[in-house]
Amino acid sequence: MRQQDLFIDGTWVPAPESRTIVDRWTGADIGRVAEAGAPEATRAVDAAAHAFTQPIPVSRRAEILRTVAGLVESRADVFAEMIRAETGKPISAARTEVARAVFTFRLSSEEATRLPGEAVPLDAVDAAAGTFAFTRSEPRGIVAAITPFNFPLNLVAHKVGPTLAAGCPVVLKPSDRAPMTAGLMVEAFVEAGLPAGWLNLVTGDAPAVVGAWQDDPRVEVVTFTGSSRVGWQLKAQSPRKEHVLELGSNAAMVVDAEADLERAVADAVTGGFANSGQACVSLQRVYVHADVAEEFVGRLAHAVADVPFGDPTDPGTVVGPLITDDDTKRVLAWVQDAQDRGARVVAGGTEMDGVVAPTVVVGAAADDRLVCDEVFGPVITVVEVATLDDAIAAVNASRYGLNTSIYTSNLGTAMRYAQQAQAGSVLVNMPPSFRADHMPYGGVKESGQGTEGVKYAVEGMVRQKLIVLKP
Ligand code: NAD
Repeated sequence: MRQQDLFIDGTWVPAPESRTIVDRWTGADIGRVAEAGAPEATRAVDAAAHAFTQPIPVSRRAEILRTVAGLVESRADVFAEMIRAETGKPISAARTEVARAVFTFRLSSEEATRLPGEAVPLDAVDAAAGTFAFTRSEPRGIVAAITPFNFPLNLVAHKVGPTLAAGCPVVLKPSDRAPMTAGLMVEAFVEAGLPAGWLNLVTGDAPAVVGAWQDDPRVEVVTFTGSSRVGWQLKAQSPRKEHVLELGSNAAMVVDAEADLERAVADAVTGGFANSGQACVSLQRVYVHADVAEEFVGRLAHAVADVPFGDPTDPGTVVGPLITDDDTKRVLAWVQDAQDRGARVVAGGTEMDGVVAPTVVVGAAADDRLVCDEVFGPVITVVEVATLDDAIAAVNASRYGLNTSIYTSNLGTAMRYAQQAQAGSVLVNMPPSFRADHMPYGGVKESGQGTEGVKYAVEGMVRQKLIVLKP
């Protein structure tokens, strides 16, 4: 049993209340975690405000982040097991996540040493003749970071790494479903020598904790990864703050008549079922050209039948339990609704030991929840289309727009799709679920605003101060 307090101003402090955390798969108690409210959240901002008066030199920030990367790497098994236990993520996927977080912290260390800034040719106007002008990155100030359950280490790393690299102190509220993974990460920062107040961990009542930060004028930036519902609500509640919002989606893939079907099928399986379909860029909608639809569906159903699902402790498992039993019921109910309205289930559609079987649904309607809402589970829908224009219209009918992809061997088709798809990223002959931690990453429409990917996240945490010299 792990006992985890709040971490404020360089010290672990208890909260008035605490909560038991259970293993998502076995149901065994694995820890007790402090439950904070608004007063503790405000104390964390007090600590961050004090820390901000004593900046950490760039070289030291880079060194601390590099050390944290090494510590996480050396404890990869502990982190992976905690991610698995808290969230039910299959252990192989948990290990991959830890390796990515190590890379994210290393990148953050490097980016700390190349903060942006540029020379400005002010003497293009006569009034500034003879001047030298340049911009310099200055940290924006205190950053409130709020993170989701589905990548409880790497998505926390994507907030904390760039924020500290930029020289901003952080108040962090991780997902209430995975607070102990974040706690292990905080321990690594303590060991790496991060001075007090720069990273504060406040677990507890989400609306109370986050609400206190939104109301606090000392918090300059709210960086949130999670559902579109909560993300846009936060922005509406504190419109004067900067917001980075990395939100939900229902990612689409187009398979045209000139696609390599074998590759499209293999990537659809990866895209739809990795992390049990609980990724913001999980493949949810496939629009396939009528000429190849029957063959594509046949091959996909065959491949999906072989995807291992069940016990997340088994290294071979791809699809494990969803984050809650209610989500299992919800996903199965959405599949049933689509069936009731005429769609066909060609793989899965059932559950075993509480795990939703990898599922493929053909012919769902555009207004079925399986198509138009975010499923966040192991379900792919396949819809036949007659033309590329029809496919583009169907993809763009979504209120979301994060990653999307097209499978084709025709360069013209690929480029037309890349130009017309409403999305943050367009991938050609790669699954929409692809994300590398250094690529610019962010959504359009209800999928969010602002860009992550370490370098780009750092840019969001600094402002460019202009300095003009007249000798
Ligand atoms: P969520 O929105 O339920 O929770 C995210 C965070 O917000 C958690 O820390 C939670 O405690 C907090 N929160 C919840 N309600 C709140 C409130 N009323 N006020 C303040 N804070 C509140 O999301 P989740 O279920 O943890 O994660 C899944 C969602 O995250 C999906 O929609 C997924 O697409 C999205 N996501 C997006 C990205 C991305 O990069 N775009 C990455 C991962 C997950």
